[in-house]
Amino acid sequence: MAVVINKETCIGCAACIDTCPTEALTMVDEKAVCDAEKCVDCSACIDACPVEAISE
Ligand code: SF4
Ligand code: SF4
Repeated sequence: MAVVINKETCIGCAACIDTCPTEALTMVDEKAVCDAEKCVDCSACIDACPVEAISE
């Protein structure tokens, strides 16, 4: 499972990374990236993103 991160919208704030319980999110070139192997679709990152860059 994985979330979709809009690279155009992401401002690289890292709020989602701090929120993820499974460490599925990392920062690559100042944009958040989701590891589908680790994501459990909890939606915590979606709620944490200030610019609504993350969707299911
Ligand atoms: S949905 Fe949950 S597990 Fe998946 S990347 Fe977001 S915070 Fe992490
Ligand atoms: S919380 Fe949103 S804007 Fe911040 S790094 Fe994550 S996806 Fe990008």
